[in-house]
Amino acid sequence: MVARYDATATERKWQERWAADRLHEVHDDDTRPKFYALTMFPYTSGDLHVGHWYAMAPSDVYARFKRMQGYNVLHPMGFDAFGLPAENAAISRGIHPYEWTMRNIDNMRRQLKSIGAVYDWSREVITCLPEYYRWTQWFFLKLYEAGLAYRAKAPVNWCSKCQTVLANEQVVGDGLCERCDTPVTKKELEQWFFRITRYAEELLDYSGVNWPDHIKTMQTNWVGRSKGAEISFKVEQEDPDQTEIRVFSTRPDTIFGVTFFVLAPEHPLVSTLTAPDRKAEVDEYIAWCRRQTEIDRVALGREKTGVSLGSHVVNPVSGKRVPIWIADYVLPSYGTGAIMGVPAHDERDLEFARKFNLPVRVVIAPEEWSGQELSQAYPGPGTMVNSGTFDGLPNQEGSEAICALLEEKGRGRRAVTYHLRDWLVSRQRYWGTPIPVVHCSRCGIVPVAEEDLPVLLPPDAEFRPTGESPLKYCQSFVDCTCPKCLGPAQRETDTMDSFVCSSWYFLRYTSPHSKDAAFDTARMKSWLPVDMYTGGAEHAVMHLLYARFFTKALRDVGLLEFGEPFTRLVNQGIIVYQSDKMSKSRGNVVAPDKYVAELGADAVRGYLMFIGPWEMGGDWNDRGIVGISRWLNRVWNLVNDDYASLAVDPEAEKELLHLLHKTIKKVTVDLEGFRFNTMLASLMEFTNHLSRVRDGGVVSGSLWREVVRHLSLLMAPSAPHLAEELWSRAGYPYSIHNQAWPAYDEQLAREEEITLAIQVNGKLRDKVLVPASISEAEAKGLAMSREKVKTYIEGKVPDRVIYVPKRIVNIVIDSM
Ligand SMILES: [Zn+2]
Ligand SMILES: [Zn+2]
Repeated sequence: MVARYDATATERKWQERWAADRLHEVHDDDTRPKFYALTMFPYTSGDLHVGHWYAMAPSDVYARFKRMQGYNVLHPMGFDAFGLPAENAAISRGIHPYEWTMRNIDNMRRQLKSIGAVYDWSREVITCLPEYYRWTQWFFLKLYEAGLAYRAKAPVNWCSKCQTVLANEQVVGDGLCERCDTPVTKKELEQWFFRITRYAEELLDYSGVNWPDHIKTMQTNWVGRSKGAEISFKVEQEDPDQTEIRVFSTRPDTIFGVTFFVLAPEHPLVSTLTAPDRKAEVDEYIAWCRRQTEIDRVALGREKTGVSLGSHVVNPVSGKRVPIWIADYVLPSYGTGAIMGVPAHDERDLEFARKFNLPVRVVIAPEEWSGQELSQAYPGPGTMVNSGTFDGLPNQEGSEAICALLEEKGRGRRAVTYHLRDWLVSRQRYWGTPIPVVHCSRCGIVPVAEEDLPVLLPPDAEFRPTGESPLKYCQSFVDCTCPKCLGPAQRETDTMDSFVCSSWYFLRYTSPHSKDAAFDTARMKSWLPVDMYTGGAEHAVMHLLYARFFTKALRDVGLLEFGEPFTRLVNQGIIVYQSDKMSKSRGNVVAPDKYVAELGADAVRGYLMFIGPWEMGGDWNDRGIVGISRWLNRVWNLVNDDYASLAVDPEAEKELLHLLHKTIKKVTVDLEGFRFNTMLASLMEFTNHLSRVRDGGVVSGSLWREVVRHLSLLMAPSAPHLAEELWSRAGYPYSIHNQAWPAYDEQLAREEEITLAIQVNGKLRDKVLVPASISEAEAKGLAMSREKVKTYIEGKVPDRVIYVPKRIVNIVIDSM
């Protein structure tokens, strides 16, 4: 009996050796084919918890597997270090965000090293350091030059707690701040945007990538393409230069059903169109609307509010005049900020019409409709009625006909709109990348010269949030010289959304120390795009969407030659504890360090893989991890115990060889498909079989040695420390992690097959080749499904089905 496996001492020993030997350093001039396996870098919020390990350990297993398959694998690690949470945490602790962030990084780096992953630490990137954010600023200037970054006044999402604006993507659930759950309100501010909407159509195209359907669906819904028509309504007035108001409608076929017209209270034409006697009421209503959150405004079933402006528009198709109202359920940010009210066919419009006694006119008849009032709005298809010459047309046809008429009259056109808005990237906070422009009273907005980058974040600024950019109060930062006219100017004081930093970090890993460029082009070309990206699905419409946009934008400014950054994407599920999502506020966060110290990193890695299908997540359980630790100890004993060959049995040798090749195949296929749990299950089954072989001593010593050597190799990606120790003790050359992945013999891996005879009422009707391990139920099911057999059964239900194991299935039908 060998000594018990000492996981912690062994892991420390090998981690030190691997680091000293630079085993995981990646070389750009390596001639093996490249494989870029990227896992999302962590946010520097504090400790690494089990959720991080769940994302990272199986990703490392995959990277190690590709490495053994002969690829030059880049699997880097870094830190997403700017942004609100770090800043808020620093403020609440009374320390500088830089100090807080760097302290967290030290701790997290130590924790990440304890995973025993293949990270090449010489390539680490940290987004809050000037050597990195210099290039974030440089990209900003590139987008600005290309017209893809612009400054505009717009109603924006405002979080009163975080005291900053938020991108639409950061408003979640019921209109809450993604960071702090505070209800978001609207503010009219001048802000910086990235023109992501220019890429709306291209962002819907996933033909070049292998991504999970649910992520593609979430992004597709977020981009929100809808087809319809832009229709122009003229304002009824004496003036020959009549004002026109454009609306976008997905239902031009309902135009005869328009009984009112609604503008968003923020619409620029409101004051011009307000009749003098309506002014007081309109002003009061607008002031009230400013205090409402967007999500309340558009909620279905909420009591509708609004006021009439006392003016009218004319329907461009029917010629009817309809009153103009303003109502808060119409948002300024979507479409044109105006809608045609069609209460018979839109639920919100119907609620509004009922509240204010406006007429409801059915123009699309549901099937079997006989002219009665509808109890609720009917948005479905039907036949056009009350629609003049269009009556009787199916509505889809009518829609086309009305679009054609609008285009002919010059009063509208077929159009497509998107839910996607431009990405708001400026933040009124301290802890972010300064936006590299200056404001000059003579020249306007002037970009900082490239050679003057980085614009450094002043370390001595007062960073506590005030609702305005803290940098405004840092005079030494603000005062500068205009790069164009050399007169006095002021620096922009907003910082960038930290999602800008994470939109390009995968490029930086290819040449992290490049001083004269964001990345070395040749190296970038040799590594990109990322072959496999792993991380959380919660990033679907933020990071993953932004990174796709950023890549396309960089392609269009000539910096990249591809438009999709991540060729294949796999998302892990969520790890819960006692059926609850882990969160600091619930106090149920499982810290991995304690388990690493007691049972070793290999046990934590193994348990996280075994807990369930990786893409589904699972429930952390202390007993479960102990079970994995015991199994690793069994493997330890199995490989280390002296093996004594007692009576060699050729059948047992044949069976062992078959099981070895079957296991290699299963582990290979499962790793490729991210099925870590079934991969480990097959290794456990294999070790159980090996225990029986060892106890019986039924195979030769040389076969035994060969089989346990393969077992070590198969375990190397999952339990890298244990595997290295077993390898070393068996006398093989260092390191197991430089060995080739075992190949399997398809012939040997194949199940033994037998011929099953299928009888109907005792007469042979068919024969079929099946695996010898077929179960009774499988054999019976297979027999019943054979075409030949079906012709004899003629749809009758058999009275009995008799199974003679490995030989015959007899289907008995008495009535024949
Ligand atoms: Zn907030
Ligand atoms: Zn100037």
